[in-house]
Amino acid sequence: MESEDVQIQETALRPIDTLCMACDTSACDFKPMRLQRRPLGPGDVLIRMKYCGVCHSDLHKAADHNSGIGATEYPCVPGHELAGVCIDVGTAVTKVAVGDHLGVGCLVDSCQECAQCKAGEEQHCSKKVGTYGGKDNGSGRAETYPPGRQTYGGYTQFMVVDENFCIHIPKDYPLEAAGPVMCAGLTMFDPLKKHGVGPGSHVAVVGLGGLGQMGVKLAKVLGCKVSVISRSDRKKEYAMSCGAEGFVVSGSAEQMAAAAGTIDLILNTVPSYHDYCQYNSLLSKKAGSKQILLGLHKGIGAAMIVEKCCCHSKIGMSGIGGIPNTQEVIDLCAKHDIRPDIKIVPVAEINQVYTWLDEGNNDNLRYVLDIEGTLTDETCDNYPKDIAPPTLAPVTGSISVCGVLCECLWLLCCCKSC
Ligand code: NAP
Ligand code: ZN
Repeated sequence: MESEDVQIQETALRPIDTLCMACDTSACDFKPMRLQRRPLGPGDVLIRMKYCGVCHSDLHKAADHNSGIGATEYPCVPGHELAGVCIDVGTAVTKVAVGDHLGVGCLVDSCQECAQCKAGEEQHCSKKVGTYGGKDNGSGRAETYPPGRQTYGGYTQFMVVDENFCIHIPKDYPLEAAGPVMCAGLTMFDPLKKHGVGPGSHVAVVGLGGLGQMGVKLAKVLGCKVSVISRSDRKKEYAMSCGAEGFVVSGSAEQMAAAAGTIDLILNTVPSYHDYCQYNSLLSKKAGSKQILLGLHKGIGAAMIVEKCCCHSKIGMSGIGGIPNTQEVIDLCAKHDIRPDIKIVPVAEINQVYTWLDEGNNDNLRYVLDIEGTLTDETCDNYPKDIAPPTLAPVTGSISVCGVLCECLWLLCCCKSC
């Protein structure tokens, strides 16, 4: 289907054909797949996708890393860093027009009525629906075609989404850079904003990957002094080019000791389970100084409980952000020309990208799929048969009820730094 041929009458009556990149098992061997999106409802927007960023969360989901809290359903179509152009709108749409540059992040619906939704904190709504792997909550705003399936994400040609979950991308901001702002940018911006950091604050980012690089750039533009904590010094020059003033190699006892007591907010993006408590020795004596876990391993679940049980906890967590903050962070990025460092790749390279992310994102890039240029009927019909599945290491410390409770007990009873 050519995007230009999509007619309002047709999209309102018929399901919308789309190609997507899907995997059938936790081996993450992606292949093109044809599916359909729901016909355009009155409040819906049809997006012709241009690009989609690849978040490490996509890998966790596709590889079923956290099956202990809900197994991944296959086929799985990840992607929650969408960027494209509006090519059609439903009859009741008022906030979006054809031709607008639009982004979609991690959410495609929430109840829109609870206190959290009214406060623009849709990520805390009990009826929120994820862009992929979610189920419509009964409102029909995240319904699939045929109805009742799980949601399919942004590795796709066409997306149908409720207008309230569309983010306006300023026209002077490059679309290829916009997707990563929808998740990586937001996930770093939300805790920076909530912790009220600014001039006089010292923020450290642990792990310089997709989230980490956006965290450094955003904290810098908010006026903070920024340091990076990384596994080795190979990313030091890059960290400085992003605006970091300090750089600490986590395995160096001398460098850790030199940074002790100097940092007000630590944003820890490491995707796998590790000794995160060691970083608390770096926290300053300022009231409210804290380490926020963002990576999806059992530590983040434990941090959520510990933070609720003990309001002075030095460990906390954060999960994405709401729609108003997503709009705010893309506007901020456009205003200050903050862009993620990306590599645009054809969809046929997705397996390779998963290998790179699983190896630790050693090139500190956000990989972005060239959807419009490479997810085509031709790709689908001639998809190479010899693409190897990604090489993925076994996961340790994944999120499960038992794992989180044990970690929580350890934090509360044994860890002196939390
Ligand atoms: P990424 O691009 O793969 O970067 C992760 C970085 O962590 C790497 O560049 C590396 O930095 C460091 N790292 C990787 N493996 C490590 C290991 N074994 N030990 C220590 N450090 C390691 O990942 P991302 O897309 O930024 O995502 C990071 C994590 O945040 C993932 O778990 C993702 O699912 C999660 N996430 C959470 C939210 C949320 O709302 N909480 C939202 C989005 C993503 P160095 O080389 O500098 O050490
Ligand atoms: Zn993400």
